[in-house]
Amino acid sequence: MEIANRVKTLTPSSTLAITAKAKELKQNGYDVIGLGAGEPDFNTPAYILEAAREAMDLGMTKYTPTGGINELKQAVIEKLSRDNNLTYSANEIIVTSGAKHALYTLFQVILNEGDEVIVPSPFWVSYPEQIKLAGGTPSIVSGLEENNFKITPEQLETAITAKTKAIIINSPSNPTGMMYTESELKALGSVCTKHDLLIISDEIYEKLIYTNDKHVSIAQLSTELKERTVVINGVSKSHAMTGWRIGYAAGPVAIIKAMTNLASHSTSNPTSIAQYASLAAYRAKEDPTIEMRKVFAERLNALYDLIVEIPGVTCQKPQGAFYLFPNVSQAASLTGFESVDDWVSALLEEEKVAIVPGSGFGAPDYVRLSYAISKEQLEEAAKRIRRFVENHLK
Ligand code: PMP
Ligand code: GLU
Repeated sequence: MEIANRVKTLTPSSTLAITAKAKELKQNGYDVIGLGAGEPDFNTPAYILEAAREAMDLGMTKYTPTGGINELKQAVIEKLSRDNNLTYSANEIIVTSGAKHALYTLFQVILNEGDEVIVPSPFWVSYPEQIKLAGGTPSIVSGLEENNFKITPEQLETAITAKTKAIIINSPSNPTGMMYTESELKALGSVCTKHDLLIISDEIYEKLIYTNDKHVSIAQLSTELKERTVVINGVSKSHAMTGWRIGYAAGPVAIIKAMTNLASHSTSNPTSIAQYASLAAYRAKEDPTIEMRKVFAERLNALYDLIVEIPGVTCQKPQGAFYLFPNVSQAASLTGFESVDDWVSALLEEEKVAIVPGSGFGAPDYVRLSYAISKEQLEEAAKRIRRFVENHLK
């Protein structure tokens, strides 16, 4: 049986693949340190678990409206107003099976064959694949390291063609952890308005910032920008709920309606119990991100200091998310490897440290290290990476 052309060239998500590989090696008795994970290592807070149990006991185990229960939509609306100063109505919100599926569904409903979407690189691995699955073409614009991996309005202007339909902005970014400032967003926003582009603002890391920089949603900068933006977010990172699979999109009524129609023929509603758990997450007085931020900040500082000491490795210090994105091309070439991908494979083989090669993020000279593991493990991982480089330099 031949596989459909649509998915023949589809590569599996490298982030998920590395995490799975590290887990498998661990299960087989190897002392592996996995820096691949794109998920907080904290437990989902107890009051959220309790809300899920209560929902089950109350029999909330049936289909719900496709776009999510009304109470959860209201809680998302309150969140967007409280945190982002944005006002939405229920028909401008869809609750989805994770932020990833919000993006997938969005591309399916906005793209016609050959439409282009501007994807600033380094990018999260799933954007280009999802765009291609919807018949679109990712138009990659390189965010240069000297500009903290961010793209400029001039670069955006140059990349726009008659086929450009949308742009993705992911701030704080996965994999670089960099953030756009308000004035940078305003400048990019003007180009989007001039060329009538839809803006897809992936704000999944908005709560995980370790500097005094404030997260700004491009949608909150003007009514004009809000009307051309779809905000993507969810509870995966903010409430340590990656496995529950709840995300959302907030945007123009026509787009949300089309996404809901499509979901009604694909996922139907996101899991009912997970929706009640997410309702508790958004309605709670507690803010789990306070503790998470403290712990992540300590780990970031510890890992960063050790990584930049390694010969042939340079790294910008990120502002948010939970990844370091060092350039290791010099370390790899100095030690005789043909590519960073080979270097990453040898590191796993020899030192049992699993990291994600930058090639999947559109930045083949770099690697992504997640610091969603304990400080002790991070220190041990840095020690092994250093030993690996030094052994190969001999
Ligand atoms: N966007 C980015 C930038 C991400 O890193 C992730 C990672 N999970 C997602 C979206 C998807 O999140 P979710 O787990 O809610 O699908
Ligand atoms: N977003 C996370 C990552 O980049 C989780 C894995 C995934 O969904 O790709 O690692």
